[in-house]
Amino acid sequence: MYKFDVHIHSVASGHAYSTITENARYASKKGLKFIAITDHAPNMPGGACELHFLNLHVLPKYIEGIRVLKGVELNIMDGNGTIDLPERILKKMDVVIASLHKVCIPPGESTQALIHAAENPYVQILGHPGDPRYPIDIKKVVTAAKETNTLIEINNSSLDPDNSRQGGEKVIVEIIKECKRQNHSIILGSDAHYHTYIGDFSRITPLLKEADMPDELIINTDPQKFLNMINKNLCGEN
Ligand SMILES: [Zn+2]
Repeated sequence: MYKFDVHIHSVASGHAYSTITENARYASKKGLKFIAITDHAPNMPGGACELHFLNLHVLPKYIEGIRVLKGVELNIMDGNGTIDLPERILKKMDVVIASLHKVCIPPGESTQALIHAAENPYVQILGHPGDPRYPIDIKKVVTAAKETNTLIEINNSSLDPDNSRQGGEKVIVEIIKECKRQNHSIILGSDAHYHTYIGDFSRITPLLKEADMPDELIINTDPQKFLNMINKNLCGEN
């Protein structure tokens, strides 16, 4: 049973359609314990502005009985791993994902872009690698992720035939297998842009089976593992 969904967007993303409260309410109904709201950073057209992230501290820790982690999905802008929020904001985030998005970076230096993003001490998760538009050297990216203690996200929406990243199944299985080979954990994300997608990892499940991925390398089964990784002391909170 998965207790945690790390990649959820709210209306602040501009192209997502549920509020944070609706997201939390649905997560609670679904039996999750933790969610991370990771709206798009400013360089995504319609993405949330800096003030949105700075002001997240006004949200309660628990909404509808769910521990709501405050985060962001950054855009990686170039092969140097440049991202689109300053350190003073990243410092305040519980969860930081960095991803390649078509509107922000042309295909080309994807491997270097992900490796450099992983080297950024604020980046905890590389979002949805395995996008066929961004071919990568899987071994190099997973090695860099392991060395920097950065998780690799396996993203349910990427496997939706309507998604712009569709067609990456084989590569995603290879990424999962390489993580297994290197004994490096993955984290599952729904990438929900509407609340009914929260905690839906159904498209990922067959790929996990194909790669024979052990549960202990899937962070979502135990949120405390994630919190340990990001050095959050939430004693008694979960
Ligand atoms: Zn994304």
